Amino acid sequence: MGSGMTMIPKPLDRRALEQEQFLKILSREEALARFEAALFPRAILSDRRRLTDALGAALAEDITAPIDVPPFDRSNVDGFAVRSADLSTAGEGAPVRLALNGETIHCGTAPTLQVAAGTITPIATGGPLPRGADAVVMVEHTQPAGSQAIDVRRAVLPGQFVSYAGSDIARGEALLRAGTIIGSREIGMLAACGIAEVNVVRKPRVAVISTGDELVQPGEALAPAAIYDTNGAIVAAAIDENGGEAIFLGAIPDEEAKLEAAMRGALADADMLVLSGGTSKGAGDVSHRIIGRLGQPGVIAHGVALKPGKPLCLAVCDGKPVVILPGFPTSAMFTFHDMIVPVLRRLAGLPPRSDAKVSATVPVRISSELGRTEFVMVSLVEGRNGLIAYPSGKGSGAITSFAQADGFLRIDALADQMPAGTEAEVTLFTPHARVPDLIIVGSHCTGLDLVTAQLSHGGLTVRSIAVGSLGGLAAAKRGECDFAPIHLFDDKTEIYNTPYLVEGLELVSGWRRMQGIVFRKGDKRFEALGAKEAVAAALADPACIMVNRNQGAGTRILIDRLLGGARPEGYWNQPRSHNAVAAAVAQNRADWGMTIAPVADAAGLAFIPFAEEHYDFALVTARKQRPAVQAFLEALGSDEARVALTRAGFRPA
Ligand code: AMP
Ligand code: MG
Repeated sequence: MGSGMTMIPKPLDRRALEQEQFLKILSREEALARFEAALFPRAILSDRRRLTDALGAALAEDITAPIDVPPFDRSNVDGFAVRSADLSTAGEGAPVRLALNGETIHCGTAPTLQVAAGTITPIATGGPLPRGADAVVMVEHTQPAGSQAIDVRRAVLPGQFVSYAGSDIARGEALLRAGTIIGSREIGMLAACGIAEVNVVRKPRVAVISTGDELVQPGEALAPAAIYDTNGAIVAAAIDENGGEAIFLGAIPDEEAKLEAAMRGALADADMLVLSGGTSKGAGDVSHRIIGRLGQPGVIAHGVALKPGKPLCLAVCDGKPVVILPGFPTSAMFTFHDMIVPVLRRLAGLPPRSDAKVSATVPVRISSELGRTEFVMVSLVEGRNGLIAYPSGKGSGAITSFAQADGFLRIDALADQMPAGTEAEVTLFTPHARVPDLIIVGSHCTGLDLVTAQLSHGGLTVRSIAVGSLGGLAAAKRGECDFAPIHLFDDKTEIYNTPYLVEGLELVSGWRRMQGIVFRKGDKRFEALGAKEAVAAALADPACIMVNRNQGAGTRILIDRLLGGARPEGYWNQPRSHNAVAAAVAQNRADWGMTIAPVADAAGLAFIPFAEEHYDFALVTARKQRPAVQAFLEALGSDEARVALTRAGFRPA
């Protein structure tokens, strides 16, 4: 085998090139270790702040108490300073008479007279205990005996109602540690010690640049083939969430000179630079080349064994971290939260974010590529025994999975799978993610939003995870959701949905929706035909392209029935939603497909009705009494929902 390589020059070149790239790929752990070694230890950036301006900042120094709090032995009650030994025989029936000393100790009054044996001194709450006294008796347990004496009806223990000097805070004690976030409590502790100013961590200023000719900022018009800059907004927000101060510099086109100028400007001003996009080793991707010219040591890792996220580039330029995140928003998020947030928090003097990790059980086996650390987006749901991390949208469109996800889990590079039942650590995108009140897993329908809107307006959170009818049914059987919306036709009985139920599930009727063939208005091939003839016409024209649906979708069963085993052009294009089918036809990437009438209507397509299907809900009986489930059932039956569904083109059952 080896001899062939030396004889054929061309493949050798290609292999050498591949190998050169391959050799540079580091494991996640190695890349992180090298990045951190190049950055730390380092002095923390700090600012001197007055207490009144320090709220929310992280302390940059350990604070040691400079004084005792309270600074003297202090009375806790209104009463009299006494010598406890004088009162050893006192009781309700046997008061002890003590002679009044000639002063009253108020807050802020330093005592001048000693409490000698047989005497007593009036003292207010907060007053300093006079010499000779060792306890305080409450005023309620005393009685004046003329103007010169007091009768005491209670014995007291030494130290009673006295706060000793330093009992709250002792001088020399560690009061607050560096890294503590200063809240009202911390401000109180500092004030009690007389500290007026502290050193707080200065937030690292982090410049954010998006790269790509295709990027347009939100608020601007979207040109054809352009997309909105998502990373800029997410990354800037995530920086602020993790102790940095983001400075967003917009999107820069893929032009070396412009980008270099922007990067130099950013580094002159900021403590750190985060770019996204342009990091694949393609011709238009220039940012990593520029880094080499911006300072020492430059690129530390370019290419990390991550999935997704392989093109991540980590660099340090004259002490400042420079990161190029992958362009795909989900990849950018995974790598940012997993590898950049820990570094940013260290720069910001903050401890690792413990509130952004939760432990959850994975309900299904997740396969994974051996040799790369794999990130998997998950949605959290409340299961029978704690949290369940439901993998969402693995390999599917970025934004849907992103919208439904609470965070992600990591599968080790050395594992080729994560078995069902694994307890995994989930990194949350937003700390303290709230587990939704109602969980719907199955087939998605725009009608569903019309029903759940009522719940959302009532303050309940609803999560619907679109995995198709069969996937939903499986989740319902495992008890991971409240409802699985399904539309499954049983060929044998010719009945919708009911034949698919098993013990533990019950059917709740939803609505009917018309499935049919869509085509662009004016397409003569399909005009005035029924569904079966339309499909026959499509099959008869070799130039005609279809768009299919994913395996497991109820719509797919109908399509396969119509096609009767044919596999026309476009059959393998299998998007996961009604909307994607309509978009493919409307945008001329396909000529026909099957979707539901309201979606066809919204996309401005012509529609040939085929079958009215039953969109119902498999309810997990064990979860029926949950308040959110009851609220959903009520909303489903309400006039409001029926009107909204009818108006949108559905027929409530
Ligand atoms: P790139 O690494 O620049 O080739 O980008 C990979 C993919 O991510 C492309 O589809 C880009 O359009 C997309 N992308 C890059 N940057 C952004 C961004 N800031 N917002 C949204 N998508 C982006
Ligand atoms: Mg790009």
